[in-house]
Amino acid sequence: MFSNTQRTYTSADDLSTLDYAAESEYQMFPGEEITIAKGYVSVIHHLASVLPQGVIQLNRTVAKIEWESCEECPVKLHFSDGSVVFADHVIVTVSLGVLKAGIESDDDGGLFSPPLPEFKSDAIKRLGYGVVNKLFVEVSERNFPSLQLVFDREDSDSRFVKIPWWMRRTATIAPIHSNSKFLLSWFAGKEAIELEKLTDEEIIDGVLTTISCLTGKQVKKDTDTKPPLVNGYVNGNDDEVLRITKVLKSKWGGDPLFRGSYSYVAVGSSGDDLDALAEPLPKINKKGGEGNCHDQTKVHELQVMFAGEATHRTHYSTTHGAYYSGLREANRLLKHYKCDF
Ligand SMILES: Cc1cc2nc3c(=O)[nH]c(=O)nc-3n(C[C@H](O)[C@H](O)[C@H](O)COP(=O)(O)OP(=O)(O)OC[C@H]3O[C@@H](n4cnc5c(N)ncnc54)[C@H](O)[C@@H]3O)c2cc1C
Repeated sequence: MFSNTQRTYTSADDLSTLDYAAESEYQMFPGEEITIAKGYVSVIHHLASVLPQGVIQLNRTVAKIEWESCEECPVKLHFSDGSVVFADHVIVTVSLGVLKAGIESDDDGGLFSPPLPEFKSDAIKRLGYGVVNKLFVEVSERNFPSLQLVFDREDSDSRFVKIPWWMRRTATIAPIHSNSKFLLSWFAGKEAIELEKLTDEEIIDGVLTTISCLTGKQVKKDTDTKPPLVNGYVNGNDDEVLRITKVLKSKWGGDPLFRGSYSYVAVGSSGDDLDALAEPLPKINKKGGEGNCHDQTKVHELQVMFAGEATHRTHYSTTHGAYYSGLREANRLLKHYKCDF
C-alpha cells in the first residue's frame, strides 16, 4: 500500500528507478496540505491580476526557440501559427516531458535551434518524469467510506479475479471530504496511462467491481434507472444500491503540452541535474562566453532561461517549486539589469 502511494507521490512507475539517496534532498513544504475552494486557477488569476492587460497571451504554442542568433534581438520565438516574436530573453517553463520530447529530434524538428548543449540535454534525459492521474467519480450516496486497497501480487484470491489490473495499484478510493458524493483515486505509471484510454463505461465497471468485490456492497453498473433484479425480483431498497453517476479524469500523459505529470530523480541522475536544468544559456565563462558568436564581447547573456518544477533542487514536482523557480529567474533578470533591491 505504501509503495503504491509512493508511486503517485513521486510519479515513478517502477520504484526501483527512483534514486532514494537523491530523493532525500527533497523537502516537504511546512504546514498542512490544503484544497483551494475555488480551484487552483484562482491562484493563477490572483498572480496574473497585477499584470497589464494583454501581457499574457494564451493558446499560443511555441514551435521553436531560436537562440544565439547574435543579432540585436538574440532570441526568436516561432509559434505554431507561423508568427514570430523577437526577444532579449525567454524563460522556458515547459514541463520536463515537453523538454524530453523537444530534444529527441536532432534535425529541424527539435524545440531548440541550435540544439541545447550536452550538459543540458543529458540532464533532461537522465531525470525521471512520470504520469500520475486523478480519477473522480460521483456516486449515488453520501457517507461512502474511505477505502484503502492492497492486492496480493500472486492474484491467488478467487474473489478478486474480476477486478481489472489497472485498479490493483490504486491505494485508495475515498470521498474528497467527509459526506461528499465525489470519490477520488490516484493512478500512476502504466495504470495512469491505461486510465486515459478507458471509456467512462469501462471505468464505472472497473470501479464498481472493485467496490463490490471488496465490500460486498450492491452496485449497479448500467444506466438503467429501474431497481436491480435478483433472481427476477426487485431486490430491496434501490437507495442501498451504489451507482456511479459521473466520471472525471485527468489525462496528463497524452496531453502534448504536458506529456506527463511531474519529475523525480531517477537512478543515474542526481540533484545536480535539476541544477543543470536551471542554468541559463548561453553558459558564460569568466573570459567572455561560449557559443557560436565570433566576437565574444557581443555574447548576449541570459538568452534562454529555465524555470518550472523540474528546475528546483529541493521542491521539484510541486507547484510551490514551480513558483519559486519563477521568482528565481525573474530575480536573475532583475540582477542582470541591476534592478534588484
Ligand atoms: C495529478 C496531479 C496532482 C498534483 N498534486 C499536487 C499537489 O497537491 N501539490 C503540488 O504542489 N503540486 C501538485 N502537482 C504538481 C504540480 O501540478 C506541478 O508540479 C506544477 O504544475 C508544475 O508547474 P510548471 O509551471 O513547472 O509546469 P506545468 O504546470 O507543466 O506548466 C507548463 C506550461 O507550459 C505550457 N506549454 C507546454 N508546451 C508549450 C509550448 N510548446 N508552447 C507554449 N506553452 C507550452 C503548458 O500548456 C503549461 O501551461 C500535481 C500534479 C498532478 C499531475
